[in-house]
Amino acid sequence: MLMVCALVLGLSTGMTANAAPGRMSFSPGASGAGDPYFPDMGNGGYDVSHYDIRLAFNPKTKAISATTTILAKATQNLSRFDLDFQGPLKITKLSVDGRAAAFTRRGAQELVITPRQGLWRGSAFVVSVTYAGVPQKIDDPALGLSGWVATKDGAVALNQPIGAATYYPVNDTTDDKATYSQTITVPTGLTVLANGEPGPTTKHGGYTTFRWHMSQPMASELAMIAIGKYNVTRAVTATGIPNITAIGRSVDTKPGQGRVFNRTTAQIVQWEASMYGRYPFSSTGGIIADVGVDYALETQSRPVYDQRTSEVDGDLLAHELGHQWFGDSLTPVHWSDIWLNEGFATYSEWLYQEKFNGIPVQQSFAETYADEKDWSGKVADPGRDHIFDDLVYNRGAMTLQALRLKIGDRAFFQVLRQWPTTHRYGNVSTQTFIRFVERLTHRDLGAFFHTWLYRPGKPTL
Ligand SMILES: [Zn+2]
Repeated sequence: MLMVCALVLGLSTGMTANAAPGRMSFSPGASGAGDPYFPDMGNGGYDVSHYDIRLAFNPKTKAISATTTILAKATQNLSRFDLDFQGPLKITKLSVDGRAAAFTRRGAQELVITPRQGLWRGSAFVVSVTYAGVPQKIDDPALGLSGWVATKDGAVALNQPIGAATYYPVNDTTDDKATYSQTITVPTGLTVLANGEPGPTTKHGGYTTFRWHMSQPMASELAMIAIGKYNVTRAVTATGIPNITAIGRSVDTKPGQGRVFNRTTAQIVQWEASMYGRYPFSSTGGIIADVGVDYALETQSRPVYDQRTSEVDGDLLAHELGHQWFGDSLTPVHWSDIWLNEGFATYSEWLYQEKFNGIPVQQSFAETYADEKDWSGKVADPGRDHIFDDLVYNRGAMTLQALRLKIGDRAFFQVLRQWPTTHRYGNVSTQTFIRFVERLTHRDLGAFFHTWLYRPGKPTL
């Protein structure tokens, strides 16, 4: 391989074939994307534009067999590169640009791929990986369950923060968003839901193949698949956005709950769009499923609500649907900045309480401020094991209300609308947010944000 590269470089630059730079010009991509909390997550040297996941699921054995094809572009001259892939799934075939490539697996999640020849910076390439086995979910002592979770009648994949690589090879970092096609084959009688909009469903020999497409950029932590017995409700919102909701048949439901869940989802999306700007995705919805993870997750375009969060009420819908702007369309580069998701999503709950239940936001703030026990952490750098702590949610939302009191309603609601509009589909950081608010208000808010986001202790009002 090195010889081929040196020759190509020699031809293109006029250097002699034995010149030293030829040997230097291709190097391995980094094995991590640089997140201090999750150093192995993601990789360097390339940028993914699309994932095509084709997967068959056997509910009896819980096994999958799959081929994932990844369209990417090299961002450096690559001699080799990594994908994230973890657990017991066995790879039977792997190619780069249609030619078999060498690969090894290192540590917990590195799939190291060496193509037959180096990949030039800027060139597009296609990786195809065929694999099979029984995926194993992640059970992290601090962060809970994620990844591919087998259920009584199927499986649900919920990836935040570290689960995606349990069922497909992926550049598992928030700042390499891509579009997705998911083609899932199951025994006829089961239903498959995923992000985005459905394509044609086809049947053959006792199996049904479902197709789903997410055509806006999506972070891997927000990809989702739900397989099982579901009652599906299809409608459109008042502004014409397809709205697909589903409730697992094993979930204890009241008569008519399917329609109510669908309608409430549509109403909240529309109401939030009136504050946060145009809804960012081409469909919406939600899935209530018996997963057993004890949380709801803002999976892109279609959140999943574990039935054990079973008060799936307006509050919770407002939270997960609020995330579609804050977390999904705008996604923090680093997990330390997850308050930019959870603070806004919790604030969405407070706004919901005010709009639909007559409880003023200021009252929610005051009660949280009075009741909060834990003031010891840093909201904008809570630590790897604390990204889902109450601190991040409650103090994150309190920071926003304190900001509103400081800059006034007019400027604050401009922030709520313009922040997600300006950075639509992008990656953001706390520093970007602070600069954004300062520019909008022409004020120096450094001390204010330092007190609320970076200094442990209860801020005085
Ligand atoms: Zn949340």
